[in-house]
Amino acid sequence: MDIKARPYCQCWVKKEPVQWKELSKCSCGEEVDVFEWKWDKPESRSQVVMSEDGKQVTFHPYYSSGTAAVRGETPMVHNNHYYWEVKMLSETYGTDIMVGVGSGKVPESQYTFTSLLGQDSESYGLSYLGPVRHDAAEVHGSAGFCRGSIIGVRLDMWAGTLEFFINRQPQGVYIYNLRRHEELYPMICSTAAQSTMRLIYAASWRASLLVDAAKVLASSVAVRPHLRLPPGLWNTFKSHFWLTLPSEVADDKDGESSTSKEIRITPTGQGQSGPRSRRRNWLMLPRTTPFMRQILL
Ligand SMILES: [Zn+2]
Repeated sequence: MDIKARPYCQCWVKKEPVQWKELSKCSCGEEVDVFEWKWDKPESRSQVVMSEDGKQVTFHPYYSSGTAAVRGETPMVHNNHYYWEVKMLSETYGTDIMVGVGSGKVPESQYTFTSLLGQDSESYGLSYLGPVRHDAAEVHGSAGFCRGSIIGVRLDMWAGTLEFFINRQPQGVYIYNLRRHEELYPMICSTAAQSTMRLIYAASWRASLLVDAAKVLASSVAVRPHLRLPPGLWNTFKSHFWLTLPSEVADDKDGESSTSKEIRITPTGQGQSGPRSRRRNWLMLPRTTPFMRQILL
């Protein structure tokens, strides 16, 4: 099995260094123009430079003296589905470059070289090196990303689940119990000088039976391409293509069939601690590595 990080398209195979202004030349995967939010203006321009349209971010434009992060301007709230994508435009190197989500409590910079997203319980991140991190723990399963990769984040604030995609493929880790956060912000962070990423898609859809029905319908169309959809619906699927991206745990969507969702905590004095009385705040389920599933329990 090849576990090398890959670009989304062929535009990046050339080995020569890329000119600064050539960074935005590749527009593969950017066919659908949906941007419900953009990046929030950075506090410090010495650490982060942002394009006029708020989509493209360059970390540490001069030199790097630590970790810088940027968050989306709009919080992601309960009962909505969210999907967004960034394209990695520069070479990946250094301590970490990450894509993820975090509560409002995550700092925007730190004077140490660190994997900022996932260093505590307030954030979740996928590293370019592969691991998904949360609460100072990590799960391996992804090949990570490189220049030209498209990193997707699907956050379901109705079910409270989070999944990462690279080049629109699921990455083997499924995280849940995110509804404990009132709201979460999309985030990216980097320790690497001149590292650049661009937001290429940002959509959401309010959770409803309509969304669930659309998912079922869309997946049946994927299996039977000759099925004709009404044109109006077809357009909806085109602009919300993410609804039909494969899930790691399609048969275990809400974790109910797994015994791992709830754990017993030793009773603290009174009464019995039933299986529903305490719930672990989060769990990362790497489908591909059952061993990890065991140690996390
Ligand atoms: Zn391309």
